[in-house]
Amino acid sequence: MGSGQVTFEGTRPADSFAGQHITVAGLGVSGLSAARALAGCGAHVTVVDGGDDDTRRQTAAVLAEEGIAVRLGDADSLPDGTGLVVTSPGWKPSSPLFAAAAAADVDVIGDVEVAWRLRGPDAAPWLAVTGTNGKTTTTRMLGSILRAAGLRTAEVGNIGTPIVDVVLGQERGDGATYDVLAVELSSYQLHWAPSVRAHSAAVLNLAPDHLDWHGSMAAYARDKGRVYEGNRVACVYNTADRATEDLVREADVEEGCRAVGFTLGPPGPSQLGVVDGILVDRAFVADRQRQAQELAEVADVNPPAPHNIANALAAAALARAFGVPAAAVRDGLRAFRPDAHRISHVADVDSVAYVDDSKATNTHAAEASLAAYAPVVWIAGGLAKGASFDELVASAAERLRGVVLLGADRALIGQALARHAPEVPVVDVDRTDTGAMSAVVEAARGLARAGDTVLLAPACASMDMFTNYNERGDAFAAAVRELDSDGA
Ligand code: ADP
Repeated sequence: MGSGQVTFEGTRPADSFAGQHITVAGLGVSGLSAARALAGCGAHVTVVDGGDDDTRRQTAAVLAEEGIAVRLGDADSLPDGTGLVVTSPGWKPSSPLFAAAAAADVDVIGDVEVAWRLRGPDAAPWLAVTGTNGKTTTTRMLGSILRAAGLRTAEVGNIGTPIVDVVLGQERGDGATYDVLAVELSSYQLHWAPSVRAHSAAVLNLAPDHLDWHGSMAAYARDKGRVYEGNRVACVYNTADRATEDLVREADVEEGCRAVGFTLGPPGPSQLGVVDGILVDRAFVADRQRQAQELAEVADVNPPAPHNIANALAAAALARAFGVPAAAVRDGLRAFRPDAHRISHVADVDSVAYVDDSKATNTHAAEASLAAYAPVVWIAGGLAKGASFDELVASAAERLRGVVLLGADRALIGQALARHAPEVPVVDVDRTDTGAMSAVVEAARGLARAGDTVLLAPACASMDMFTNYNERGDAFAAAVRELDSDGA
C-alpha cells in the first residue's frame, strides 16, 4: 500500500462552477443531468452532440428555454471560450473533442467528478464498487445490507438515478438525505473522476474488457485502481485475483486505511471468507488473530453460485468497513434480489432448469457462470468484441452436456470447442430472425437430460441480433415459456 498522505483537495463548493463556460459532451441521460445541474449552479453550459435528428432537436429546444445552449451535428470542435469539458462516460478518450480540449489546456471531467465536486461538507460518504464483472450485483447487495442496518442510502453511479441528481438534490435540500451512498463506478467513470475519494472501495476482479476504449490492459487497470485513491477506511480486494491486490499496493490512501481481502476459502487475518458454509469476517473484529465473526450462511446468498458469494463477501466487507453490524449483513443478503438477466431462474421444464444469464457478455462472466452448473447445456454466441474463447472452453469442457451456438461470431466459439471439447455435441443455429431464440431453446432441450441446467451465458455482446442483453434475455425467457406451455 502506498504511504502518501492524501488530502481532500477534490472537494470544492458548488459555486466553483458558477460563471464558468462549460461544454458538456453528449445529450444522453448523464449529459442532460450534468448540463442541468451545472446550469443550476450558474455555469454557462453548451451541450455538443454529433447527432442531429428530430429527437435531439426537440431536446435542444427544451434546453434552450432553460438557458442551456445545444450544438448538434458537431461534437469534434471545442466551442469558443470553453473553460471545462464535462463528458458522458461512453465517449472515448481518443475523441477529437478531447484532443481539442488538451490543445487548449482545458480539463475534461465526467459526471461522477461533477457530483463529487458538488458535495457539501456534510455529504454522505461513498462506498465504491468497481471490477470487470459483478459491479451491479455487489452494489445492490451493499445497498440492501445498508438498508437492513437502518441507514438511508441509494445505489448510484453506473446504475439508478444519475449521481449528479442525487448529490445535488441533497445539497439543495429538495432531494432525499442519505447517510451513505453505494456507488457503482465503471472504468470509464473512474477515468474521468480524478479527485473522487471514497470512504472505502472494492475492486472485485480484473479481466481484459473495453480495451479498445482504454487502449491497453495497463491503462484499464490504472483506471480501475483509481477507486482506491484516498480511501479512508478499507481497500477491499479479491485474494483470488492478484491484480486487484496489486492495485491496493499501488494506491495512495489515507493513513490507517486497511487492505481487506475476500476469499471463498477460510479467511486469514484482515480477510472475509467462508468456513463450513458460513460467511465470516476476520477483518472488522477486535482481535483478528484469534476472532472471527459469523455474518451469514452461504444459503442466504441469492443465487449461491461461487462468484456471487464473492460478490456478497465484497459487499459485506464494505458494509462492515462502514460499521454495519453482522445481523444486518445477513438480513440484507436475504432481502437481496438479483437484477434481471443475471443468473435468473426462468423455469423448470421436464426436470431441466433454464437459467438466463444474458448479462454474461464477456468470457470472464460466462466462465464464472458456467462454473456454477454441471452438467450444463450452454447457449453462447453473439458479438465477440475481439475475445478469445480457448481458456473459457477449456475450463468448462468437463461440465458441458452440449452447446448451442448463435450469433455473428459463433464460429469462434465453435472452433474453440473443436480444439478443447471435441466430444461435446454442438448445435449451430444459423438464423438471425426473431424466431431464432425459439430454435436455440428447442435445440438446448434436445441436448439436455433430466437434472441438467440450460444456461444462456453468451460470453458475447448481443447487438448483432438484439437491441441489448435485456432483449436477448427476454427472448430466451419467452422461448422457454413456449416450451413450458407446449409440455403442459
Ligand atoms: P457488472 O455490473 O460488472 O456488469 P453484474 O453484476 O451486472 O456486473 O453481473 C454481470 C454478469 O457478470 C453476471 O450476469 C454474471 O454472469 C457475471 N458475474 C457477476 N459477478 C461476477 C464475479 N464476481 N466474477 C465473475 N463474473 C461475475
